[in-house]
Amino acid sequence: MALLEVEDLRVSFPGPGGDASAVHAVNGVSLELESGRTLAILGESGSGKSVTAQAVMGILDVPPARVTGSVRLRGRELLTLAPKQRDRVSGEEIGMVFQDAMAALNPVFTVGDQLSELLRVRRGMSRSDARRRAVELIDRVNIPAAKDRARDYPHQFSGGMRQRIMIALAIALEPDVLIADEPTTALDVTVQAQVMELIAEIQRDSGMALLLITHDLGVVAEVADDVAVMYAGRIVERATVEQIFAGPAHPYTEGLLASMPRIDRRDEELYAIPGSPPNPARLPSGCPFHLRCPRADDVCRATLPALEPLPAGRASACHHREELLHVSHG
Ligand code: SF4
Ligand code: MG
Repeated sequence: MALLEVEDLRVSFPGPGGDASAVHAVNGVSLELESGRTLAILGESGSGKSVTAQAVMGILDVPPARVTGSVRLRGRELLTLAPKQRDRVSGEEIGMVFQDAMAALNPVFTVGDQLSELLRVRRGMSRSDARRRAVELIDRVNIPAAKDRARDYPHQFSGGMRQRIMIALAIALEPDVLIADEPTTALDVTVQAQVMELIAEIQRDSGMALLLITHDLGVVAEVADDVAVMYAGRIVERATVEQIFAGPAHPYTEGLLASMPRIDRRDEELYAIPGSPPNPARLPSGCPFHLRCPRADDVCRATLPALEPLPAGRASACHHREELLHVSHG
């Protein structure tokens, strides 16, 4: 049994005309995450990757979102838990880091107070123990002069430092799973790498599982063990990071790889996948990628490809997956 198991997860939002215009954001996602592993969900904006994370976190499953399928943590179903129990699991067993730290932090309390309050309420720590632990956590996320900085308010920190504080809050209760949704996207490039390295280091040291939501293949290459590539609310390819870089088994992944900036090809023009992702309220017939795919044929335009297994534990949702694998390895 994997630590976190997601099975046939579907999330839709009713449209103005009811079911006929419903937005199908997630269309049958299944994934497994083991302790100590990092799984990246890779996709463009609108691919359903954030909605998947939010459904796992339980911050979506109130009306009007309709969530079906299964989300199990250590075998325990989360989707049917009462809201109060669900909040408890989300707060204590799953930690979450968002793109926007300012929105996650309370502007009127010092960061030390926010951390110690969490430890007092959820762990029943005494005021002085919680205070000491809060300073340790601020130090753990590599903020210099932690004891002094505990007395500062969120606005007194830089964007990168605020992101570190959010990480401290997310790991304060030692969750089994950390979900990070584009945790560095809002930061300067140099700071991005440092914050990502911190998350990876904490993951390695603590042995928790990391579910990383990102649009950035460079980030995937640096920190992930496994990748699930999402397109139009589905997983279209699943593989290890090594497998993806050795040769993708889906044309969408192929396009993402070709459009990744590379130092050794600096002078070449960057490839861009033509077109844009489909509107989730009006998905095309057949393969949802067919309008942008250089390999599309009549079968692709008519029939939706299922995510089918390939050798070495990988999987692809493409009618031409076998050929692709041979092309890229040949
Ligand atoms: Fe392209 Fe066809 Fe594969 Fe879809 S099924 S990704 S259209 S080759
Ligand atoms: Mg997003």
